[in-house]
Amino acid sequence: MRAPRIGLMGGTFDPIHYGHLVTAEGARVEFALDKVFFVPSGRPPHKPADEVTPAEHQYLMTVLATLGNPYFEVSRLDIDRPGPSYTVETIEEARRLWGASAQLFFITGADAILEILTWKEPERLLSSCHFIAATRPGYDLGRLEGAIGDLWRRFSHRIHVVQVPAMSISSSDIRERVRRGYPIRYLVPEAVADYIYKYRLYQARASGAGAGEGGAAERREAARA
Ligand code: ATP
Ligand code: MG
Repeated sequence: MRAPRIGLMGGTFDPIHYGHLVTAEGARVEFALDKVFFVPSGRPPHKPADEVTPAEHQYLMTVLATLGNPYFEVSRLDIDRPGPSYTVETIEEARRLWGASAQLFFITGADAILEILTWKEPERLLSSCHFIAATRPGYDLGRLEGAIGDLWRRFSHRIHVVQVPAMSISSSDIRERVRRGYPIRYLVPEAVADYIYKYRLYQARASGAGAGEGGAAERREAARA
């Protein structure tokens, strides 16, 4: 029996969108993965806590979005682990779950890999799993080589590429669209849009009594600019 090939896609999924889904499916097919686990991060170390929607919303939207794909699962690994979500720890947990022989593939945007040197223990991370970097068609991998230098020379055989046509969809743009009342149809699965409207996620806050919150929303804007 061959060793299981497991894809893991970490993210804030705030909200999950078709860019994430089409990437995971492309990676699954191209790298013959048995399963892809979406791992909502709960508390990503690089995003301020008051900017992130509560973890249960991220989790439930991800469950709704992946329901129709028998190869997709959602993992509570990061949500249930206290403290910030570091990828190196997520992979360690996944290794415990699926055993030493499993081939683990961490799926991520190529731009995120460019920053891998700022992640916790990048060397140990690259030694512990493969990476599948989603790029726009025509993306120049040379940028990666330039950015991660020595790590690239030692680990490039573990960094693979999948080309994705829907790269320019982003959660920040979707949040902004909801806040401004623009449509998000065809950017996220219908059930995710329904969830966002039902629980009034990403809506502009009322001024007046909620002025404090309005201030927070403005700060979020400033931080994103
Ligand atoms: P935000 O705009 O808030 O940063 P995001 O759209 O980048 O959100 P994340 O949850 O931060 O979504 O990303 C999860 C993972 O998916 C990351 O590895 C990221 O690089 C990747 N990713 C994000 N958008 C896309 C996309 N359109 N196509 C492929 N991968 C994507
Ligand atoms: Mg992002």
